[in-house]
Amino acid sequence: MKFERFGTGIIKGLMVTLVHLVRHPTVNQYPEQRLNMSRRIRGNELIWSRERCTGCGTCAKACPQGAIELVTSTVFKDNKYNVETYRVDTGYCIQCGLCVEACPFDAVFMGYSYERAKYRRNDLVQTNDELLESPARPVSGYFHPEIAKGLPDQTLLVEKIVEKRK
Ligand code: SF4
Ligand code: SF4
Repeated sequence: MKFERFGTGIIKGLMVTLVHLVRHPTVNQYPEQRLNMSRRIRGNELIWSRERCTGCGTCAKACPQGAIELVTSTVFKDNKYNVETYRVDTGYCIQCGLCVEACPFDAVFMGYSYERAKYRRNDLVQTNDELLESPARPVSGYFHPEIAKGLPDQTLLVEKIVEKRK
């Protein structure tokens, strides 16, 4: 049996605390500084393209959660319906991506924005313009390798620590 003097474990533990006390912290100054997300993350919201959408309804049929609601006009023009309402209840969405895979016209994408916390359940419903792509709602590369190729590399805090030690 290994014998240790009484109290050496406590001293070792305190030494770890002391080392971290004098070490310069490596932190990210959020929200001014933001880390790039991993390309492997599917996304946590939907981005919809009004221009490409034909109102075919395939995405809504593919959704296992019934989270997509679509209202189109009865007028069929230029090989598409006019979409009056495209609504996603993100409270029901499980980010499975099936709607993205099902859309025959590349009109729906997964999005990366993660600051979507709301106080009220009803505020999780996004409609029409709220679903469009914008700098605050970037598209992820899920199911679109051509988009994934152009996304920035993921940034990790651990890389900053390694840089400092060089
Ligand atoms: S499947 Fe695509 S084109 Fe059809 S309604 Fe959905 S988003 Fe629009
Ligand atoms: S990601 Fe999945 S759950 Fe969410 S709207 Fe699309 S099909 Fe429905």
